[in-house]
Amino acid sequence: MFTCKQVSKTLNNQQFNALPIWKRFVIKLHVKLCVFCGKYNKQVIDNHDLCHQYIRNEDALNEASSCKCFLDESKKATIREKISESLNT
Ligand SMILES: [Zn+2]
Repeated sequence: MFTCKQVSKTLNNQQFNALPIWKRFVIKLHVKLCVFCGKYNKQVIDNHDLCHQYIRNEDALNEASSCKCFLDESKKATIREKISESLNT
């Protein structure tokens, strides 16, 4: 079993997803059971996972075609009117 210092140092030096599976298991077990560093290192692992997911899906997120939400022209006109009204007052 790793100590709190070893878990924190490992997560500081390497991405969680890049670690060998046995090391991920031991670290996850420590994080689940530890009352001292568990909450902090869970957030670190969540941040690593978030970054990993973002990097994997970065191209799809940046494509304009992946955005399915568009305003129709009447709503755009309403927004333009409101902006010009607020600028004139
Ligand atoms: Zn700990």
